[in-house]
Amino acid sequence: MPLSDAAMPPQRGAEEALRCEMCGAGELAGRRVQSALWEDERLVVVEDVPAMVCTACGERFLSDEVAMQLDALRGTGFPPDGARREMTVPVFRLPRTQKEQGDDKA
Ligand SMILES: [Zn+2]
Repeated sequence: MPLSDAAMPPQRGAEEALRCEMCGAGELAGRRVQSALWEDERLVVVEDVPAMVCTACGERFLSDEVAMQLDALRGTGFPPDGARREMTVPVFRLPRTQKEQGDDKA
């Protein structure tokens, strides 16, 4: 397929490499990724998520089926008993802006 056909929308399930819809430059490769999800104040990580990952910008695309599996998992409320393992994560923060600091004094 000539490159000039890049305007064609990617065909789901096609054998040839899919072009990234986000940056238009990279190609999508099938990978297993980790996904971090916030459940209220809880952060949970889901491993082995099948995704198409852009080789250029890193954007991930999930199939409808995988998105539904994640939704179903979210629906369970992520019971701790079901967790594969626990991990600790470092938490950082950005400095507050001058304006935010000014608002505090008001
Ligand atoms: Zn991309």
